[in-house]
Amino acid sequence: MSTILVKNAKVVTVNEQDQIFDCANILINDKLIQKISAEPIKDKVDKIIDATGKLVLPGLINAHTHAAMTLVRGYCDNQNLDKWLETVGPIEQKMQPEDVYWGTMLAITEMIRNGITCFLDMYLHFGNISQAIIDSGIRGLNSLALIDIDQMDKIDLDNKLYIIKNWQNKGDGRLTTCFGPHAPYTCSGLLLRNVSNLARKNNLPIHIHLAETKKEISDIKRKYQMSPVELMVKYDFFSQNHVIVAHGIWLTDRDMTIFKNNKVSVVTCPSSNLKLNAGICPTQQLTNHGVNVAIGTDGAASNNSLDVLAEAKLVALVAKYFSQDASALSANLALKMATINGAKALKLNDKTGSIEEGKLADLIIMDLNGPQYLPNHNLISNLIYAGKSSDTETVIVNGKILMENKKIIAFDEEKVKREFNKRVGTLFEE
Ligand SMILES: [Zn+2]
Repeated sequence: MSTILVKNAKVVTVNEQDQIFDCANILINDKLIQKISAEPIKDKVDKIIDATGKLVLPGLINAHTHAAMTLVRGYCDNQNLDKWLETVGPIEQKMQPEDVYWGTMLAITEMIRNGITCFLDMYLHFGNISQAIIDSGIRGLNSLALIDIDQMDKIDLDNKLYIIKNWQNKGDGRLTTCFGPHAPYTCSGLLLRNVSNLARKNNLPIHIHLAETKKEISDIKRKYQMSPVELMVKYDFFSQNHVIVAHGIWLTDRDMTIFKNNKVSVVTCPSSNLKLNAGICPTQQLTNHGVNVAIGTDGAASNNSLDVLAEAKLVALVAKYFSQDASALSANLALKMATINGAKALKLNDKTGSIEEGKLADLIIMDLNGPQYLPNHNLISNLIYAGKSSDTETVIVNGKILMENKKIIAFDEEKVKREFNKRVGTLFEE
């Protein structure tokens, strides 16, 4: 058990009341935020962090990524999704468990540096991703990727369920696990229906790519005379399940109402969507429908960075353009999407996503001394439109310091880079 006191910080809590403290003290006891107070806290503590002139924020949440795709960053730019999948596929088939481990570790290093304390992953070699989450100190929801179209072997779902349960809550509770059927065009109807039933019975979330490209929409329309979202309803995918949809670009009003009625969260990934020319997620419209919208980076092969704060700015800008309305999607809402909405999507909002007494201590400290934070007419506006994720100095997850004054102390960053480079060398050698 250790105690940390963060002193004299500006605190943006992202709680229900959007409370901001100009100068507050935060007492962290073991994993939890025990106390937040504008008054001095006099408890004896193990460590004091003086945050005078600095900003404390809830850790940012990356609600959709394929972390190990750092291995293929920059390898397949300038391609539409179909062509891109064709380029990446052969490399993925060569990936060894060790590749995925070090690819994920590099991604986690980048995410911590960018103030991200929690992410939702979907990729191959589930166990190695889980191990990287445990070893690094970050929080993660790891979805077990499932694809059965064009696969020789039938998926043994009982075995998959066993694996998911086996890793659940490891790493001091930082790792959670769930199902990740990849997409309606890579999974059979039978698989989607069976996953849905198993998830419901076992109270496990489901993560899926849905309504990402025009081609997906037209292919499904031709085959089933309905939208991908309606097809999921046909498979009884949403009811009494916690579903996290990545992308949700091509949606009808009816689709959005289905999401709202079934408490489906949508994770928008604007950089990836723009780069692959997939389209624009109607984030303001979804919000108006009462749908929870969170932010993801998608993988580093289609973004190409893992920077939620940068995505938050883009989310706001793209929504204004898409809605033809400069008042669409405020900086305040963008910040919520990057924090508490992400926690809601990952079913972790009773534990993380805001700075509140009794919640887990997942928070970041940012340096506010840069010229980009002046003048201070509106702190949240400065943060979203002018702020830099590289201003993140200190990152705390589960009450443990992962990065202090821009130095990662939870693991050996140089070793991660070294091992990562070795794996890339082997993976791409002729
Ligand atoms: Zn994705």
